[in-house]
Amino acid sequence: MSSSAAEFMEGIIAKNPAEKEFHQAVDEVVESLWPVLEKRPEYRKAKILERICEPERVILFRVPWVDDAGEIQVNRGFRIEMNSAIGPYKGGLRFHPSVNLGILKFLAFEQVFKNSLTTLPMGGGKGGSDFDPKGKSDTEVMHFCQSFMNELFRHIGANTDVPAGDIGVGGREIGFLFGQYKRLRNEFVGVLTGKGLNWGGSLIRPEATGYGATYFAAEMLATRNETMEGKTCLVSGSGNVAQFACEKIIDLGGKPVTVSDSSGYIYDEAGIDRDKLAYVMELKNVRRGRIKEYGEKFSSAVYTPADPKLDYNPLWNHKADCAFPSATQNEINEKDAQNLIKNGVYVVSEGANMPTTPEGVKLFLDKRILYGPGKAANAGGVATSGLEMSQNSLRLSWTREEVDQRLQGIMKSIHKACYETAKEFGTPGNYVNGANVAGFLKIADAMLDQGAV
Ligand code: NDP
Repeated sequence: MSSSAAEFMEGIIAKNPAEKEFHQAVDEVVESLWPVLEKRPEYRKAKILERICEPERVILFRVPWVDDAGEIQVNRGFRIEMNSAIGPYKGGLRFHPSVNLGILKFLAFEQVFKNSLTTLPMGGGKGGSDFDPKGKSDTEVMHFCQSFMNELFRHIGANTDVPAGDIGVGGREIGFLFGQYKRLRNEFVGVLTGKGLNWGGSLIRPEATGYGATYFAAEMLATRNETMEGKTCLVSGSGNVAQFACEKIIDLGGKPVTVSDSSGYIYDEAGIDRDKLAYVMELKNVRRGRIKEYGEKFSSAVYTPADPKLDYNPLWNHKADCAFPSATQNEINEKDAQNLIKNGVYVVSEGANMPTTPEGVKLFLDKRILYGPGKAANAGGVATSGLEMSQNSLRLSWTREEVDQRLQGIMKSIHKACYETAKEFGTPGNYVNGANVAGFLKIADAMLDQGAV
């Protein structure tokens, strides 16, 4: 058995070479958990940490499909079934050319802790493909999704593994995936979440991750007797999470001033109001255009193209109070974190998964800003997926107000659990430790109860 956290990490790296995002995610959790493990020898004896880092099952498969030109394309499909100690595997599917085993294992690992924090009975999983939906026709996306499901269907099920969306997988893709599952299985069940409203979807599911990250920021601010009112907010991304983070920031009286895509970002000093946000939603969800067009449409905005030669992202270098990274992993490096702090940002609520590098996280913690890590701050999405599963089982639909109230209640309890656990374990205000330890304890105890499985 490893005698130190460093030795444990050496083992993880040796066993999972070339999976750097997975190493990063495990390292952060091990740092939080090691002092807990030293006090709880029963966890060490049962090798809980060793088992939690090893997926229960990894499925890797070929996804052949025919494009509009009649040519055969071949992609790779994955599903990581990470941990089912407290419920069926649950977690999104990501379609993006960067997808590989290490990225999906990091996401699945984070998902286990996140799902535990939601207070709902869900295990953790993640999946996806290196398929790039950008620039593909609807027919090509459908052909791909059908081929992907032709293999995935035998591994998932309403009581086994319930995937959802993530980067590149929204309502359109979930529709095609669900249609093919239903055809293959000949059963209409809640096997996916993020479904359309008239075929089993839940109100507020599309909004939930962005709304949740904003509710989490409001909870953090409340610990200092402050609110979102009047706060200037930097938001990255312009997809599902970013759009609804902007909407809730506006609802709570704040002012989002940036959104981005992988080609660049816009800075709108006057603020992205409801009309401009409606334009972003139409641009991204209907026309599937680029954020550059926002800069052409609104004279108050400046568009800056992405420059891969820069060692920082200028989006994070504007005066503001709050930041909501909502695009992808490692989008805030140490220099970005320094720029954020220099510009007055003292609230960071992560809509994306692991958007801050370890050096950036360290700086946020050292400076004692209100820093909500993704596995807590963006848990509203999966929590509402859990509510969609409940509604499917009950065969009824809750109102918008009812789901939103439950979401707010869940975000409050996640915040409370992180806040109080951080205090209890001697690191008050450190939501990273709070989230890791609170998420872990519930799973670890379930694993102890269930024996060596
Ligand atoms: P979308 O596909 O809807 O949007 C992603 C956005 O981020 C797009 O604007 C995209 O730009 C940008 N982006 C993606 N990859 C990169 C990259 N490598 N560099 C720069 N920009 C990039 O995804 P979501 O909004 O659903 O997801 C965003 C983040 O939130 C992810 O980290 C995801 O894991 C996390 N998350 C999502 C949840 C959900 O419910 N959807 C739940 C919890 C977390 P472009 O179009 O140019 O690629």
